[in-house]
Amino acid sequence: MSTPLELLASASEAVSVKPLFVHAHPDDETVQTGSLLSWLTGHGVPVVLLTCSRGEQGEIVAGVLPAETTSGELIRVRERELACATETLGITEHYLLGTPPARAGGLAPRHYHDSGMRWVREGLAGPADIDDPETFTASDLDDEVADLLALIEHVRPTVIVGYDKAGSYGHPDHVRAHDLAVAAARASGLPLVEVASDDDSEGFERYDLADQKQTVIAALRCHATQLSVVDDHIVHVGGQHQGLPLTAGLRLVRQ
Ligand SMILES: [Zn+2]
Repeated sequence: MSTPLELLASASEAVSVKPLFVHAHPDDETVQTGSLLSWLTGHGVPVVLLTCSRGEQGEIVAGVLPAETTSGELIRVRERELACATETLGITEHYLLGTPPARAGGLAPRHYHDSGMRWVREGLAGPADIDDPETFTASDLDDEVADLLALIEHVRPTVIVGYDKAGSYGHPDHVRAHDLAVAAARASGLPLVEVASDDDSEGFERYDLADQKQTVIAALRCHATQLSVVDDHIVHVGGQHQGLPLTAGLRLVRQ
């Protein structure tokens, strides 16, 4: 039985591995798994990143963009920030859900809109009051699974990496990304590795990835409209502080 990390980066050169990370928004790849991604690419693992929405409902750090920035412009800014972070983390294959090849055969490309969130209590997010049938959570999960399966057919990963059931901090798009990863793993027969939402989540193996700190900080700084890095802490746009993500809690879920 492999450990979760061995499944992502086989110690044997004879076995090729190709993990597919499923993330909700721009910045999650770095905030949730930046040190793991950096460690993997540093070990020559060909990582594939899928981002499901463009984070256009997220707040903007004051003063970074002009006040008149439109939602369409913000989407382009966040796509650029994401491209900066993926390059910094050494990821060469990145896709957006709904855009070919992450789109079911023959269908026109689509954007899954950011579902937004509101704080239910400190550290736990719940659904926002948004009336938009095109959000990631309002869309049909079966359509999203079909899009992800099209990507799987295209890139042929060996393992899917996604959030655990709690979805990091409960953001509805994170919970949906978990559901999507689980359903796609089941449909494709691929193993699923879940990333722990909390440092003390039970049943996960912990890995210390502190040696990836400088790369993680550089990747975090790409997301200047969403966060800043101050004294080895992430300061989110809403003012929440978070330690640098320099550990990974992983659990292998066999389907
Ligand atoms: Zn997110």
